[in-house]
Amino acid sequence: MADSLGQNWKNRDFTLSSVSDLSSSDVSSPGIARFTSDALQIHPESPQIPLNFDLRTAQILKLGPVQSLCITEGSDDGKSGSYSTGVNIQFKNEEDCAAFHSAVQQWIKENNVQGNLPNGTLTTSKSKFDEKIEPSSAKMYFHYYGQLLHQQNMLQDYVRTGTYYAAVIENRADFTGRVVVDVGAGSGILSLFAAQAGAKHVYAVEASEMAEYARKLIAGNPKLAQRITVIKGRVEDVELPEKADILISEPMGTLLVNERMLESYVIARDRFLTPTGKMFPGVGRIHMAPFTDEYLFIEIANKALFWQQQNYYGVDLTPLHGTAFQGYFSQPVVDAFDPRLLIAPPMFHVLDFGKMKEEELYEIDIPLKFIASVGTRVHGLACWFDVLFNGSTVQRWLTTAPGSPTTHWYQLRCVLSQPIYVMAGQEITGRLHLIAHNAQSYTIYLTLSAKMWGPGAEQGGILQTSSCKLDLKEPYYRMSQPQAYPLAQDQQTQPLVQTQDIHIQSQELEEPEIMQQLSPNSCAQIDSLMQKI
Ligand code: SAH
Repeated sequence: MADSLGQNWKNRDFTLSSVSDLSSSDVSSPGIARFTSDALQIHPESPQIPLNFDLRTAQILKLGPVQSLCITEGSDDGKSGSYSTGVNIQFKNEEDCAAFHSAVQQWIKENNVQGNLPNGTLTTSKSKFDEKIEPSSAKMYFHYYGQLLHQQNMLQDYVRTGTYYAAVIENRADFTGRVVVDVGAGSGILSLFAAQAGAKHVYAVEASEMAEYARKLIAGNPKLAQRITVIKGRVEDVELPEKADILISEPMGTLLVNERMLESYVIARDRFLTPTGKMFPGVGRIHMAPFTDEYLFIEIANKALFWQQQNYYGVDLTPLHGTAFQGYFSQPVVDAFDPRLLIAPPMFHVLDFGKMKEEELYEIDIPLKFIASVGTRVHGLACWFDVLFNGSTVQRWLTTAPGSPTTHWYQLRCVLSQPIYVMAGQEITGRLHLIAHNAQSYTIYLTLSAKMWGPGAEQGGILQTSSCKLDLKEPYYRMSQPQAYPLAQDQQTQPLVQTQDIHIQSQELEEPEIMQQLSPNSCAQIDSLMQKI
């Protein structure tokens, strides 16, 4: 059975199938391991003398999937009784052993031990996650995902969940007989898919209270449950009894990177995946294109009009108008827009989950270059993403592109408070610079420039440039707005541009297939969804 690491580990006894004191010739006996406020106690059934290990100085080493070694050094004062203690312990099964080691880590973290342990596996009191993320943000984040309704929202995104299902089932060969880790398992749905596809064993790692519900859901599917172990904890901290052949995860947030869970996915790769292992998905791409949308621009600008009143109950509000105006334009807009609003062929930036370093996600700098297809006002940059399941049988993309079946991610638009004007054929350059912050999101810096066009362009002068700074953590959800877009005068009835990418990256990837719409009702259902944070 799976082990909960919540608070239960403190009062929990870990059953040991064998305890052998290395300094004694006594044969081994069964026993139990127990954590007290300052030590780990190993109680052999015979002799009934508990062995104490001070966890601030002891070394707890994993010798195998079910076997560990606990060593504590005696004080070197030459007196008798100051010898070191070593005990070899065996667990009943791999889950118990993994839970025990997670409990050791938990003890160290809670007791704030500062890296003074000689044992490399236990030297840090702060996990990588805690070093980067503000505790209050993490608390809210995991509280959110601990609620069933938010997991339901994701499950009801049939484009999302259906594509995962298809990608797994169509690529049975990648799962059958394999060890799988589900990174951020949530309700456990992807673990269940992996087990359906014949996985030998699935470790479902989930940090929020949802782990308990996942256990319940998995236990209710007994044919699959025997091959799934739920482990409650963060992938940065938990220990697993064996390496994985394949990782499955849904770590994507708005603009792909929001929530900073991709970093956990990459950390999980380094901690759990065999060098030749696979990741589902293995690649993500952020797509970008300039757009025109006069209605959206006016809507945002008008929000700040309130602050232009000079006599609001006798009070002049105008001193705050500038701040309010900037505030509204610092919110990226999340909604599903008509792809005809795009005014240039999109470009994309590739994130290779299998190869990239975690640190590469701290700052993402994307140079932009587009050729305008029409003459119009450019109101900003539209972004969406897709991810690739590069199965050995079938390659499948999950796309959130405008014009494709809508997902709960919708699309994201960064709106410039100062639009720029371009002529058809004119080059638009710029930069999208994303800097991660400790509230599990990013600050977005966007610059778009329209280069000189026509006579004099060779001199390379820039005619107009416009910049904005946005907080990806504070989006403006615009789903309730009417979605009709009367065409601008100089726009055609055909799409202005194909939502096909121009390949300016060095790394070329195959174009996504058109997604199958898995449920005819999916758009309507998804439109009513709450967002991921
Ligand atoms: N796999 C599920 C849930 C995806 S949402 C599905 O596809 O439906 C992402 C989940 O990952 C959330 O439940 C969240 O609590 C969990 N999570 C995020 N960061 C994590 C981390 N560092 N360690 C473990 N779980 C994490």
